[in-house]
Amino acid sequence: MTDLITSPVHADPALDGDHERMSHIVLEGVKLSEEEFVSAGPSVVEGIVNGTPVKALCGKVWVPGRDPKRYPVCPTCKEIAEGHGWKVPAG
Ligand SMILES: [Zn+2]
Repeated sequence: MTDLITSPVHADPALDGDHERMSHIVLEGVKLSEEEFVSAGPSVVEGIVNGTPVKALCGKVWVPGRDPKRYPVCPTCKEIAEGHGWKVPAG
């Protein structure tokens, strides 16, 4: 039996003219066991280091900034995460 553990993290959008000023939740992958981790896409760290765009649960795609600030969590991301029973990071 496999326990599905997800690793959603939240990151704040780069100041790219986006005036929403919200933190979005990025699903980085699913942890199948202590040894097995299935990546769901570019991680936030990769995005920051390589400038790779990441995709949030709500569908927003952006390049995460180096200096995330605390913004309220995107309600759409939160709803999706909670609908899956995932832990939602505190905003
Ligand atoms: Zn979102």
